[in-house]
Amino acid sequence: DAVESAPAVVVGSGYGGAVAALRLGQAGIRTLVLEMGQLWDTAGADGKVFCSTTAPDQRSMWFRNRTEAPLATFLWLDVVNKAINPYPGVLDRVHYDQMSVYVGRGVGGGSLVNGGMAVTPLKSYFAEQFPTVDADEMYGTWFPRARAMLGVNSIDPAWFESTEWYRFTRTSRKAAANAGLKTTFVPNVYDFGYMQREAAGTATKSALAGEVIYGNNHGKRSLDKTYLAAALGTGNVTIQTMEKVTSVSRATDGSYLLTAERIDNTGAVVETKQYGCTYLFLGGGSLGTSELLVRARDTGALPDLDAGVGAGWGTNGNVMLGRANHIWDTVGAHQATMPVMGIDDWANPDNPVFAEIAPLPMGFEHWISLYLAITKNPQRARFTYDSSTGAVKLGWTTAQSAVSAGMAKKLFDRVNAANLTIYRYDLFGSTSKVFADNFTYHPLGGCVLGEATDDYGRVRGYPNLYVTDGSLVPGSIGVNPFVTITALAERTLARVLAEDIRS
Ligand code: FAD
Repeated sequence: DAVESAPAVVVGSGYGGAVAALRLGQAGIRTLVLEMGQLWDTAGADGKVFCSTTAPDQRSMWFRNRTEAPLATFLWLDVVNKAINPYPGVLDRVHYDQMSVYVGRGVGGGSLVNGGMAVTPLKSYFAEQFPTVDADEMYGTWFPRARAMLGVNSIDPAWFESTEWYRFTRTSRKAAANAGLKTTFVPNVYDFGYMQREAAGTATKSALAGEVIYGNNHGKRSLDKTYLAAALGTGNVTIQTMEKVTSVSRATDGSYLLTAERIDNTGAVVETKQYGCTYLFLGGGSLGTSELLVRARDTGALPDLDAGVGAGWGTNGNVMLGRANHIWDTVGAHQATMPVMGIDDWANPDNPVFAEIAPLPMGFEHWISLYLAITKNPQRARFTYDSSTGAVKLGWTTAQSAVSAGMAKKLFDRVNAANLTIYRYDLFGSTSKVFADNFTYHPLGGCVLGEATDDYGRVRGYPNLYVTDGSLVPGSIGVNPFVTITALAERTLARVLAEDIRS
């Protein structure tokens, strides 16, 4: 087969991949981005690119017969999920033995489906997780650069206090305050000016129309509108979609060889392609990058990869849960889909938790306060290669999830006790399931910075091979992770361009 060559190849177009593409393109380096999902720029028959959470269709999920939303049931009823046609939809739920992981698929990766919460971690916790990274430089240079590039903005506090769309957040804030807990505003990449126009009826509704995990048609500054648009604007970057990289190896001259499978809308492989490059940047996310490297090491394609490849994986302590409010503590029939506040109890040494106040826009009053808790769960797992099936497995166990659930329970037992409220038992599929600890939105680790790579994401043992995504983060960062992933990628690209490529 003919090998298509480029000086640089980037695998994946999420945060890590997008930063790499832009900075390489700006440096004048011809760069090819390979993305397994599609480019989301074409409207369907309804005139919309993405479908909403309340009326999901084939665009919602990656090759499914039925949607698999995080909230499985309401009043124990199977009313949330819908039958759909298999199609390369925008949200995937990857099932491992005892953990499932939500990820975005498409040009922009997770930025297409996430809640947009753009949180910079506590400096002390960042320094704890990345002891070899200069935290002053991160907070002085790379975090500010990432926030500026991502278009981070904050809700107008006066509008927040008055709008019906955030009543659910104010009700949760009150319950937290009753328990003596601190809440804090959280910035977002959703354009709050646009959201106010939605509320005023002068702009097409998106965040105010239930759009989020299956994509936003307006208002969201996803990577295709920021980093990737700028990358394409350099004239040096090309993005190939619907191409999944399946293997990586090295040629005798030290260049890298990739095999990619191009699929069609039915998922059938229509072409197997070969690529060659001098510089290879892996931005397939914690799952995608870890899988490629673990397989490459254990099949002998890249045999010198460090034993640390595949290790240090965690869920960022994610747990979802709901509380039932009193009848007089309404959450509102109208809810914006972008979270703007969290309960910040991270400084509590006995039980560090940061809990985002999550929306549950069902279009009617349901009195539910929903949360995505980020707990400081120290448990870690490892990806392994199963030579009998060729699959890469994840060793995370139910018992490890129970540690997160226990921490979330400790915090929300306090909230319930102070408010004389109870949990909701009807949301996660079975009567006993109060704490949804069986999935995560925040897969982190598998190729940890300073362990499987050097302190800048250079993969140990393999010159010109780099990791730029969430697999660098050692399983936990204490807040929603994309600002950290972006800032670390900016730091890596600056260093690599200066020391490895331009010189
Ligand atoms: P990703 O963004 O996952 O990008 C990886 C890309 O690579 C994907 O497009 C994927 O299709 C592609 N890919 C993978 N493997 C291959 C391969 N072999 N070949 C070709 N392409 C490949 N974080 C926050 O900070 N704030 C939030 O509010 C927030 N909310 C979230 C809500 C949801 C529903 C989800 C799912 C996530 C949320 N996150 C949030 C998490 C955040 O989106 C991720 O941490 C982030 O996207 C990870 O960035 P990344 O660069 O590591 O990889």
